Amino acid sequence: MTKKAQLSVHSENILPIIKQWLYSEKEIFLRELVSNATDAIQKRKILQTEKNSLPQTEPFRIDITTDSQKKTVTISDNGIGMSAEEVEKYIAQIAFSGAREFMEKYRTDASAIIGHFGLGFFSSYMVADRVEIQTLSYKEDAEPVFWSCDGSSEYSIDVGIRTKVGTDVILYLGKEHEEFLEANQLHKLLRRYSPYLPFPIYLNNNQINTSEPLWVKNASDISEKEALEFYRELYPFEPDPVFWLTLNIDFPFAVKGVLFFPKITSQFDYAKTSLKLFCNRVFVSDNCKDLLPDYLTILRGAIDSPDIPLNVSRSHLQMDKNVRQLSSHIAKKIADHLLHRYQTDKETFISQWKDLEPIIKLGILQDEKFYERAKDFLIWKTSTGSWITLGEIASDGKKIFYTQLEKSPILDIYHQKNLPVLFINHHIDTALISFLERKQSLSFQRIDGAIDESLLDSSREKNLLDTDGRTESSKIADFVRASLSEPDLEVEAKSLSSDELPAFILLKEEERRLRDYMNLTQTSQKELPAKKTFVVNTNNNLIIKALQLKALNPELATSLMRHLYQLSLLSQKELSSEELQEFSHSSTKLLSQLSTLI
Ligand code: ADP
Repeated sequence: MTKKAQLSVHSENILPIIKQWLYSEKEIFLRELVSNATDAIQKRKILQTEKNSLPQTEPFRIDITTDSQKKTVTISDNGIGMSAEEVEKYIAQIAFSGAREFMEKYRTDASAIIGHFGLGFFSSYMVADRVEIQTLSYKEDAEPVFWSCDGSSEYSIDVGIRTKVGTDVILYLGKEHEEFLEANQLHKLLRRYSPYLPFPIYLNNNQINTSEPLWVKNASDISEKEALEFYRELYPFEPDPVFWLTLNIDFPFAVKGVLFFPKITSQFDYAKTSLKLFCNRVFVSDNCKDLLPDYLTILRGAIDSPDIPLNVSRSHLQMDKNVRQLSSHIAKKIADHLLHRYQTDKETFISQWKDLEPIIKLGILQDEKFYERAKDFLIWKTSTGSWITLGEIASDGKKIFYTQLEKSPILDIYHQKNLPVLFINHHIDTALISFLERKQSLSFQRIDGAIDESLLDSSREKNLLDTDGRTESSKIADFVRASLSEPDLEVEAKSLSSDELPAFILLKEEERRLRDYMNLTQTSQKELPAKKTFVVNTNNNLIIKALQLKALNPELATSLMRHLYQLSLLSQKELSSEELQEFSHSSTKLLSQLSTLI
């Protein structure tokens, strides 16, 4: 009574073509068949609870067994089973029509599908030359069914041998796919795709899935320890995360999950998405870019949704409105959580700032809504050692002093004047402060960007005219200019309130920002010049002395001035490596000049 029939796939050569296309992801066959087995058990469980008339079964389980002699891998379940009509309908028609759909899609948009297309039952032909099914439906008086197809367009159907309700899918592996007979290989795949299945899954009688996924628990029941263990299980070689939070959404679709903010080490790969997406506990993908805004692609963890809109492929996420809504929901959750952390435990928040900072700053630049929330937890360290938020410093039109160097002679002058200075030294900061200036009518000025009025002492200005009609300060400036003979350099002589600092370099704020920005974005190391002004302090003893020395020993006076100039560049990190070499030579020269005076 064997019946032979044609598959409802019209193109004769569809199987070999698809096999070839899917070659790189052939391992997904296991995920697909295990998912089918899970679905079948799930259905039977539902039927049992609905109609308690159905007899109680043995414990539900999925078994993967290998036979190295026959070269088979069998996926067995004690799920709902199938009748002969169902096999014909679901396997011969529907499963294969999925394959046809694949062909059609492939023709229009190949790139979207390759590597992302799960073909359900059909994917077994990526590794098997022949697939058999032994199944017995749960229905009363059902007969066991045997189905066999070698991947050509013909299949046979007959009476089967199963005595218990459920299904065996038997794969006769192709010669080049015998690696799937190896327990190690299967174990690895099952751990990857099925570590959290709701039913026990066994490989040659050894249970694979032992732990419950964390996201099925109530958020309030999850302890710190459990969260960390879960993280280590998902990402065994990663340092512990900075913080974690749970996700539980009902609308626009049901999503549960646990998100972790990873520790960003120097080897961290920002471009790699690692959030794992599960669908009813079956691993789908860890490359779901669209689920997260760009700046949060670093997030780790797992989310599970029975109804995230995946296309036929299960693993190819469609970028629809709902997914976008979910992405902004996650961003909001993260921002709210960060604010909560800042408000409730500032000390820990500050200690973690180095890890949080790049992402928070990127988020501010990329996402207006995130920026609105982040204003209250975007913090900077100040020169007094305290930390303040943007909200705390920002009053309209205010000038905010900042520095990239936590120690510098210029900073000392600001300190003496009790002027607060922010330490702003992350490489994103140049873009960030320009953004904040546009948003909040603030102005940020690096302390070496201009001389603030409050740093000057006008009462000591050397502006008395001598017999030639020139002021002392203009004479100092001329002397410095002549000593340095740098045609593009401006020189100014100023009466600073502090006597200690002999001189420093001013860099025009806009040009310097542009230079920083170019350094960040350009691959070439060639520096853009930023206009420099050399400011000498007319109240500093060394400057006064150097001017006096000019009459006695002009060469030494000039060398001193040059040295001072290079020292200023050095302390402001403006000396290039060649200039540093030159500085070293000229320093030696200056020292020997001085030694002749001893
Ligand atoms: P999908 O799982 O996406 O529906 P498949 O091609 O994997 O597509 O399977 C087609 C159909 O065959 C399933 O929807 C189900 O009705 C039936 N089926 C497949 N495997 C099993 C199984 N192990 N037990 C019972 N029914 C199954």
